[in-house]
Amino acid sequence: MFDYHIHSDISFDAHSPAREIVACAAQKGLKEICFTEHMDIDPAGGREEIGLDFARYDAVYQNLMAEGCPIAVKQGVELGAFGDRAEEFAAIARAHDYDFVICSQHFVGTRDPYYPEFYEGKTMHEAYQEYLEEICKTLRVFKEYDVVGHIGYPSKYYRGTEPCKFIYSEFAEIIDEILKQAIADGKGIEINTSSIPKTDDTVATSEMVSRYLELGGEILTVGSDAHWAADAGNYIPQTLKKLQALGAKYVCTFSKRQPIFHSLPDLV
Ligand SMILES: [Zn+2]
Ligand SMILES: [Zn+2]
Repeated sequence: MFDYHIHSDISFDAHSPAREIVACAAQKGLKEICFTEHMDIDPAGGREEIGLDFARYDAVYQNLMAEGCPIAVKQGVELGAFGDRAEEFAAIARAHDYDFVICSQHFVGTRDPYYPEFYEGKTMHEAYQEYLEEICKTLRVFKEYDVVGHIGYPSKYYRGTEPCKFIYSEFAEIIDEILKQAIADGKGIEINTSSIPKTDDTVATSEMVSRYLELGGEILTVGSDAHWAADAGNYIPQTLKKLQALGAKYVCTFSKRQPIFHSLPDLV
């Protein structure tokens, strides 16, 4: 069992020291985890804390490696990349020796769908469509990543009265464009389990995963997006079973940006 999306207190919005997360993950029976600390740029300027302290991150990781860990621990990054600053994000990915890079759309224009303001004056459909179009814009120009993070991120935070789950058929054209672009570029998609308590599904949703597989995609990673040590590994066993039921044959880990394919029947 692997968890390929975890934030330690190096990320501006997470709370647990890396060492505590490793201990917790080992106790839960995880075999491998990957830290994916936030590296965001505020498109409106001002929120510098959402960036990453690279030197501190390297020091913490190197310390973990030197002291030894009971499970495999990789060093990754969650880039909040967006089209207008694609070259800066690509330079960051190239400048560091990370194992794994997630490309996560965290902004639509200058707004973050985490905050209620993003949804003001929009139907749920309009808000989700805008978000998906923004991912498309990013993926057309940004290529320095391994998997597309949490396709469907606004469904975690939508507070309106309509059902918050992404329904594939309502956004089929734009979702297909995202998935086809990722596949054409040799990239994977992330199955993020943090939405399960709210939507009873992952982001990307099961429907999106099925479509990715149908279109010929092969690279899937699974992550809890834990921001506390106790959340590492959340919902991952049931998600692996679901992926197998959807027809997925493999789940990937990464080492130095290269995917390693693990047969799903051996993991569930
Ligand atoms: Zn994210
Ligand atoms: Zn995250």
